Amino acid sequence: MTEPNDHRAPIPRRRRLSVEDYVTGVVEGNRTLLAQAITLVESHSMIHRQIAQEVLKKLLPHTGRSIRIGITGVPGAGKSTFIETFGMLLCNLGHRVAVLAVDPSSSVTRGSILGDKTRMDQLSRDPRAYVRPSPAGATLGGVARKTRETILVCEAAGFDVILVETVGVGQSEVTVRSMVDFFLLLQLTGAGDELQGMKKGVMELADAILINKADGDNKQRALNAQVEFNRILHFLKPATEGWETKAYTCSSLHGEGIKEIWSVIEHFREVTVKQGGFHARRQAQTLDWMHSMIADYLHQSFYHHQQVKNSLPGMEKAVSQGTISVSEAINELINLYENKER
Ligand code: GDP
Repeated sequence: MTEPNDHRAPIPRRRRLSVEDYVTGVVEGNRTLLAQAITLVESHSMIHRQIAQEVLKKLLPHTGRSIRIGITGVPGAGKSTFIETFGMLLCNLGHRVAVLAVDPSSSVTRGSILGDKTRMDQLSRDPRAYVRPSPAGATLGGVARKTRETILVCEAAGFDVILVETVGVGQSEVTVRSMVDFFLLLQLTGAGDELQGMKKGVMELADAILINKADGDNKQRALNAQVEFNRILHFLKPATEGWETKAYTCSSLHGEGIKEIWSVIEHFREVTVKQGGFHARRQAQTLDWMHSMIADYLHQSFYHHQQVKNSLPGMEKAVSQGTISVSEAINELINLYENKER
């Protein structure tokens, strides 16, 4: 594995970086170039996107050798505290940890929810770790694409544990589940109320439920919640075939139960690699990703097509007034899209 290396002289800013500069820099673990390569991947500019695709193509043989872990939980559940403690433990065990975030709202809230480096103070200053805020992007789809590509860049740079954090609201949990091997749900203590408010769907995405803040007065309540969660989990369909999702407790603040959750994840990897599910899931995820990119591409290309753009307002009006049917409108628009020059 390549050691992330801070000591290489950065390439002078004024020279435009070539694909080779990015590739060599990333593979050698040069952090400046790693950051620049991710910026390239995140860029909205077409030119940057093209260079990014070439860089990614060359990095591909160096990717895949990591465990990708998704972490979710409502705001205040303790995600950043957990990631700080967990990440430092992993670094001390000899791992290289990259922390990414999926937070489509960050472009609006200026990244205040997730990916704020100051939240993981120690980890973000550690040379064995790399903390990257959520990419700006109006849509979840846009943010997800960038994050998927950033995972690959980080793997090529030698990070062998990738943590993808998301806030436990809305669709982003499903999206993060679709890009990770293991999905961890951080939960607050206290059984009754939280369990009632909990979406069953989210529990069905999780490979482990970790009840955080199991310390002080909360400890007993956390243990009670653990029993209750395990009781419910017993009746749910597991997120991963051949793996039983269970509840655990931890205190991120005091570093208790953190080693144990890493053992659970290691065990998960062992079991699923042996059963073939680990690689099968990755392949399925890559195919899903391909299809969602095709859908994105076609969507963009259709709505940016000049003839379509010109005709759309009229069609919308006609459809809403009932002068033509939706099918007719679609046929006409698709004909314009397929047959006419832009
Ligand atoms: P996030 O919004 O999910 O990232 O949550 P934070 O990590 O910012 O934590 C929210 C609050 O809970 C902070 O005040 C933390 O200090 C506190 N907290 C996090 N983990 C623990 C824990 O294990 N025990 C206790 N007692 N407090 C914790």
